[in-house]
Amino acid sequence: MEKKCFVTKEKIEQIVKDYPTPFHIYDEKGIRENARRLKEAFSWNKGFKEYFAVKATPNPYIMKILKEEGCGVDCSSLTELMLSDIVGFKSNEIMFSSNVTPKDDFILASKLDAYINFDDLTHIDFYKDLAPFKKTMCLRYNPGGDFTLNNEIMDTPKDAKYGMTKDQMKQAIKKLKAYGVEKFGIHAFLASNTKDNGYYPKLASILFKLAVELHNELDAKIDFINLSGGVGVDYKLDEPKNDIKIIGEGVRKYYEEIITPAGMGDVKIFTELGRFMLAPYGHLVSKVVHEKHIYKEYIGLDACAANLMRPAMYGAYHHITVLGKENEKCDHKYDVTGGLCENNDKFAIDRMLPKIDIGDYVVIHDSGAHGFSMGYNYNGKLRSAELLLKEDGTVKLIRRAETPNDYFATFDFSEFKK
Ligand SMILES: *Cc1c(COP(=O)(O)O)cnc(C)c1O
Repeated sequence: MEKKCFVTKEKIEQIVKDYPTPFHIYDEKGIRENARRLKEAFSWNKGFKEYFAVKATPNPYIMKILKEEGCGVDCSSLTELMLSDIVGFKSNEIMFSSNVTPKDDFILASKLDAYINFDDLTHIDFYKDLAPFKKTMCLRYNPGGDFTLNNEIMDTPKDAKYGMTKDQMKQAIKKLKAYGVEKFGIHAFLASNTKDNGYYPKLASILFKLAVELHNELDAKIDFINLSGGVGVDYKLDEPKNDIKIIGEGVRKYYEEIITPAGMGDVKIFTELGRFMLAPYGHLVSKVVHEKHIYKEYIGLDACAANLMRPAMYGAYHHITVLGKENEKCDHKYDVTGGLCENNDKFAIDRMLPKIDIGDYVVIHDSGAHGFSMGYNYNGKLRSAELLLKEDGTVKLIRRAETPNDYFATFDFSEFKK
């Protein structure tokens, strides 16, 4: 079986006439259909809203597509807030889930009337001197300990820098109430790239119980519960695949068990998904420029880890398709590399692929989230273009490739030109 590409070899040969490789290309149709599936899965909750995690794919054209599908945005920095403002997200369409937050970021978030998600108890007084409180403020929870699902440890919140202890959550609510805040959101992010339909429901059950406790003990009006990100995608062919319908129903079950009987049936469910919204709908397209035969067989691409850092940084698997050779036997073992002076600049190690020739185009799959956005300029490598494959089959340049002038833009060369 092969992971399906949303572009063919013929299409890429046409595209490269205008936009040379490497580039990231996104599939508008796939993005929209997936966003609709998510919305449908949570349609049982009247207030449901997805706040797309901008850091996954900070491109205004992508953000606009998601806006049209009814999504808001989740920001964690000044520039993400600025971008969201430019795209036209307003007030309750913006969630600001930051940590170690600079003053200016809080000030802009407040100016945009975003929901602000406090990462720490001390942020409340830090914020108080900067901007007025919104009627609804959000608090980020860290339950500590290990986070387990089906008796397996999925992550260790006790070692994570995010969020507050339960006691601090309670102090925060008392403090905020004294400052005139009327309603609260609660938020937690306990595991990343999960492949188990049980993740969101388990997280929801923890947050729902906490919400009821805060409601009963402190008379806190809970406005929303933010399940944050963490629903993963199947980067590998044989990995389990999340079913968003089952996930939505799993959350609903706990909602009806815990939230509804507490008389809190108007609590809204929010999500802040990034990877799930975009990863499968992006390809990094690159051309084979070299082959090398030493102790191993190497294929050299015109893309490198600066375009997609996950394999180099986490050893993450990204599936590779050689365009036009989808049905050929994978009987050659290759290391597929970029050109950084870094031995970990390898998109694949010992990967079985069809025989590759110089000039072939390869698709590196699932680059749509935490792909381009984690890019960097090491070795003076330039960031690639981003393209959008529109629903009508046409291609739009949604970010041009960097030029050397972009790379040099922060130097003042006048001293060297005398
Ligand atoms: C990164 C992040 C997300 C999105 O995470 P995904 O794994 O891409 O779903 C959501 N919320 C916060 C606060 C984050 O830091």
